[in-house]
Amino acid sequence: MKLDADSQEIERLRDELRKHEHQYYVLDQPLISDAEYDRMMRRLQELERTHPETVTPDSPTQRVGGAPRSGTGTVPHSSPMLSLDNALNEEELAAFDRRVHELLQAAPEGRTPFRYVAELKLDGLSMAVRYRASQLAIAITRGDGREGEVVTENARTIRSLPLSVHGEFPDMEARGEVVMPRPAFEAVNHQREIEGLSLFANPRNAAAGTLRMLDSRVTASRRLDYYAYYLLQDGQPALDSQWESLDTLEQLGFKVNPHRKLCNDVGELLAVIREWGALREQLPYEIDGVVVKVDSRRQQEALGSTAKAPRWAIAFKYAAVQVETELERITVQVGRTGALTPVANLRPVEVSGVTVSRATLHNMDEIERLGVAEGDTVLIERSGDVIPKVLRVVQQGRHRRFFTMPAECPVCGGNVVREPGEVAYRCVNANCPAKIRETLLHFASRSVMDIDGLGDVIVDQLLTRELVRNPADLYRLTVEQIEALDRMGRKSAENLVAAIAGSRNQPLPRVISALGIRFVGERTAQLLAAAFPGMDELMAASEEELQRADEIGPKVARCIRDFFADAHNRAFVEELREAGLQFRFHSPAAIARVEGVAGKTFVLTGTLPSLSREDAKARIEAVGGKVTGSVSGKTDFVLAGADPGSKLERAQTLGVRVIDEAEFLSMLGSASPGD
Ligand SMILES: [Zn+2]
Repeated sequence: MKLDADSQEIERLRDELRKHEHQYYVLDQPLISDAEYDRMMRRLQELERTHPETVTPDSPTQRVGGAPRSGTGTVPHSSPMLSLDNALNEEELAAFDRRVHELLQAAPEGRTPFRYVAELKLDGLSMAVRYRASQLAIAITRGDGREGEVVTENARTIRSLPLSVHGEFPDMEARGEVVMPRPAFEAVNHQREIEGLSLFANPRNAAAGTLRMLDSRVTASRRLDYYAYYLLQDGQPALDSQWESLDTLEQLGFKVNPHRKLCNDVGELLAVIREWGALREQLPYEIDGVVVKVDSRRQQEALGSTAKAPRWAIAFKYAAVQVETELERITVQVGRTGALTPVANLRPVEVSGVTVSRATLHNMDEIERLGVAEGDTVLIERSGDVIPKVLRVVQQGRHRRFFTMPAECPVCGGNVVREPGEVAYRCVNANCPAKIRETLLHFASRSVMDIDGLGDVIVDQLLTRELVRNPADLYRLTVEQIEALDRMGRKSAENLVAAIAGSRNQPLPRVISALGIRFVGERTAQLLAAAFPGMDELMAASEEELQRADEIGPKVARCIRDFFADAHNRAFVEELREAGLQFRFHSPAAIARVEGVAGKTFVLTGTLPSLSREDAKARIEAVGGKVTGSVSGKTDFVLAGADPGSKLERAQTLGVRVIDEAEFLSMLGSASPGD
């Protein structure tokens, strides 16, 4: 059936999607909205379903992880992936530089000057990717350097890794680093915490665990990134210069770290190293040093390699920010799910400009693994914004006190149990004040209902004054009640009430995750919202029906069922309904394009009474409209709130129609979620 027209559209969609993938994941410069991208992707999937014979392995639809694979294999590398020697301080780097000078003096190439390439040393795991006839053929972890594990299916899910390459190297190999960016790392650990699983210690471990997952659908759900730094052909450098290789990789569509520099001497190298030593914590991923390579391939060959490492490269490693201090006491914190987390209370110590007095010990297993006791001197490490952690015991204290998990909750005195197969100990009291406090904080958090200004100081006061018992009570708070709290002015009270009211517009997936059902975090909530049209259907679903939803297993299904079976929980959900939260879900796919909005271009300006800008934008895009940043002749509507800027003037000059929030909402009419 009309294959010709369809295959033309298929080709066009693939080209478009590849271009936008590259813009978004490699260049970080999206040209279109996520909703638009999703629409194109769904259209392509639809066409490929109609014409399965047209599916190619490099179609953008083929990234999505497949079914779990049964096992793994290893294959040899095209040439050994040698590790690099380390320079642990500036003297060692200077010594490396002197050796390179001496060796090149003795070689014929020594007569020409040489240059170094400095590249950030990303803290992830190395992976080689081979292409055959321009198509991604195989991805292999570094392994022992001679052979590595095949991880092709999982690598395909990394959006910044091209599935095909075009140009002069159809049969090439890229080597590079798989990393998990910090925000993705935090999201993964947050989810694991909800699920009662042990946390990943750092982004590198999380990246390694994720790349080697048996189920590539899980890999696809976590955002890994791939940065290429070697371009090989038949196991040998494809070009004569490392600097040129990096540029070429970029042209081939790979993500290449932009922070690279060609240096003429060791002084320039040191400047780069010092600069990034100071800036490293601002990067969205972790680095642990700077890699230095002699640029010219001929000079690299003249320098050669030892059995373990090349003589033409070295990894300058930043000193880990580690200090010793005394672990004075171990206390426990009670979380939203009732989990008891042991916390190390330290003798305050300064680590890279910050005073540290607490470090996480994660759980009882970790305390046993470390063999740590109160009174011990411990080595702690701080990296980025992550809570400092205890690395090991340096010296046992003279009067050691071993920690045991309390049998009663330190907050409410409720029973503490450890369920079989779980790492965490939990307080079983459903009304434990610690749980209620954490539930409120979870509810208000950025990734859930996103209530700006509702932090722990306010929550504590609301609880002490018995103004709220559960999150539904938030919607009944008045400006006067909030203004009466400590250090609260009229203006901030009004802002908070507005923020709470505005959260009524959060879409159903966020409301589901706000309920605080065990195992149901952001992602699971999205899957549930995609499978059930609304809260009522979700509440009425049997375990079997729940399991029919994507990725929902028996354990999660039972927890959801148990949650809604509980009368208190049902009453809580009803309170949220009365508070006016969104109980219906309109996925972008399911929404009919709304006449008058679809295809129209909007510009937002000023502060709207109830919608945040993100909300307004999401709503416009969900029904097929578009939001741009500046007013032009192509703008159809300017949605203006209080204190509009020059955009309003420009709209009036150009005669563009200006609407307010009320008018906007009525335009959305029946497509507005919640109706
Ligand atoms: Zn308790």
